[in-house]
Amino acid sequence: MSRLLTYLACALGLGVLAWGCLTLARTRPLDPAFVRLSPAEIARLPLVVRMDPPLGSEHAALTYNAQPFRLNRHLGDDLNGIGGLNSDRGDPVHAAAQGRVVYAGTPGPGWGKMIILAHRLASPSGPQVVQTVYAHLEEILIQPGQIVTRGEKIGTVGTGGGQYLAHLHFEIRRGPYVNPSVGYADAPLNRLSPEVFLQQHRGAPATQLNPAPRP
Ligand SMILES: [Zn+2]
Repeated sequence: MSRLLTYLACALGLGVLAWGCLTLARTRPLDPAFVRLSPAEIARLPLVVRMDPPLGSEHAALTYNAQPFRLNRHLGDDLNGIGGLNSDRGDPVHAAAQGRVVYAGTPGPGWGKMIILAHRLASPSGPQVVQTVYAHLEEILIQPGQIVTRGEKIGTVGTGGGQYLAHLHFEIRRGPYVNPSVGYADAPLNRLSPEVFLQQHRGAPATQLNPAPRP
């Protein structure tokens, strides 16, 4: 009888242990990169003076927006070279502004390779964080944690591993939460229109330099 009780206790204990592990697995972030930036990390983000389009020339010459923000529930812009089809495959993707790489990897099959940069905007109400997202890349040319400058080549245009005709899925997100998330949704979530946002932040002269990032 006592042996039976021991077996029961063991089974119960293992069950509780398994439940605990499953709960932990469910609540833990998918990857250490998918976190909220701390106030100290936000304070160290490079300050954005101006932004430029990430594809084509710094004025977006030789590109077009094939699927603008919110069309078909889209959460970003789909930027293409004017040659169409796969003519822009391998073209350079530039950082839209000075920022820090907070994610670089392949988050899921629909995304292909993705880079997320975090930027700090000066605001009278305190620092504001925006993130720029570059997806379906052919190559990633930077490392997480690295600081990049506006216009720096950070990757190349890809097909998301052969899922699409080559294009750059480009998003601008507000807030400090780093998460690849989704590219389509009924609500805009924390996304902003990339085209409009870039136009609003191109005011500084092309020759104006960003301040040096804090250590
Ligand atoms: Zn897209």
